[in-house]
Amino acid sequence: MAILGSAGPRGSMVAGSPHRALRRVSTGLPPRSASALSSPATPGMGMAALSRTFTETRFHASASAFSEVDSHGVCGLKNMGNSCYQNSILQCLNGTVPLMRYFASGAFKAHLNPKNPLGTGGQLSVAFFNLVQDMSRSSGTFVAPVQFRDVLANCAPQFASYDQQDSQEFLAYMLDTLHEDLKRPPPPGIPLPPSDNDDLESLDAATGAHIAWDRYLVKNSSFLVELFQGQVRSQLRCLTCGKTSVTYAPFMTMPLPLPSGSPRDVFSLEQCLHEYLRTEILEGDDAWRCPQCQAFVAAEKSTQVTRWPEVLLLTLKRFSYVGPFRNKVGNLVQFPVRSLNLNAYVGLPSQADTYVYDLYGVSNHFGGMDGGHYTAIVNHGNAWHYFDDSRVSKCDDERDIVTPAAYNLFYVRRQGLTGASAASNGASKL
Ligand SMILES: [Zn+2]
Repeated sequence: MAILGSAGPRGSMVAGSPHRALRRVSTGLPPRSASALSSPATPGMGMAALSRTFTETRFHASASAFSEVDSHGVCGLKNMGNSCYQNSILQCLNGTVPLMRYFASGAFKAHLNPKNPLGTGGQLSVAFFNLVQDMSRSSGTFVAPVQFRDVLANCAPQFASYDQQDSQEFLAYMLDTLHEDLKRPPPPGIPLPPSDNDDLESLDAATGAHIAWDRYLVKNSSFLVELFQGQVRSQLRCLTCGKTSVTYAPFMTMPLPLPSGSPRDVFSLEQCLHEYLRTEILEGDDAWRCPQCQAFVAAEKSTQVTRWPEVLLLTLKRFSYVGPFRNKVGNLVQFPVRSLNLNAYVGLPSQADTYVYDLYGVSNHFGGMDGGHYTAIVNHGNAWHYFDDSRVSKCDDERDIVTPAAYNLFYVRRQGLTGASAASNGASKL
């Protein structure tokens, strides 16, 4: 699965203008999920059943499972032949505490959905479970992910070769495939949602986003969605007649463009976020076909995040195509290790909570387009560790975390904050 609008080293990526890619899917969402989104349900229907499912499965880890997870997994991964891009991502997933709780407690087994043709019959989920179990038992040393690699090669031939691949593509594959493996079937007796969200056009963003999300969940309910998935609302507006078209798209990773500048410029994460959310004019090759004008017209595209996920995955779009050439942007982006405050980007009154995130993992890419090397920096039990394949070391200086190699950023939302306590906590805006 390619992530539209980004291009990585030696990955088979979508070429073309970023605008075109953005117009299709602005969120790095796999095409099949995008089509699932546009098959909605009657508003509000069946939500009692859905909510019940979520409450039952949301925090199933007992206290003992929690402590087991805390001490778990500081363990290297042997390089199986240019597999550092996989190791880098697996280390970050292994540091995703709520995900590890879900797997370590065995709760995932009840959700295995082997009949879903979009999944792997549960094979990848079980292989991932076995791997993180091995890592848990082998703390302080390293394991060779032999079985995981065999299963992966079987399920996803694109990752079977010994070629270097893009860690972002691998991350997207893992999240999407675990989601399909563990997806809950639509609750029985609930009519499936309509096939598009056209009827939401006239609703305000808060109402439309809520209905679109409920519809999405009817066919796409999983622990992975609860944890990682957010939602973006995009609106196109014809600059000739004013006709608008709104889409609501879920995302699991948010691709943040770096602003243009000289290679020496240092950007803030906020600048990248602004770049992602910047209102743009689509024209020329990117013109929009306005259904009212019945012609390709210049249109204004605006983007708004209508749901921030519990675990926020940001990809710095360091790889791009310029004509036939692939480029890597090596600028330093300053991102906060603690207290990434996104409250300024919560535009909906329904999201009255606070959105403050802490970093827990970074997947790094070193080098250029040909080859290069991936490593990870992951927080385990309040200590940062540096994972370079089988080598693991303590990372004592937080300045070693924020480097120009940072590529995929893993943030988890801070729990139990109210607006007042977030303020007194000194949470700073980005
Ligand atoms: Zn028009």
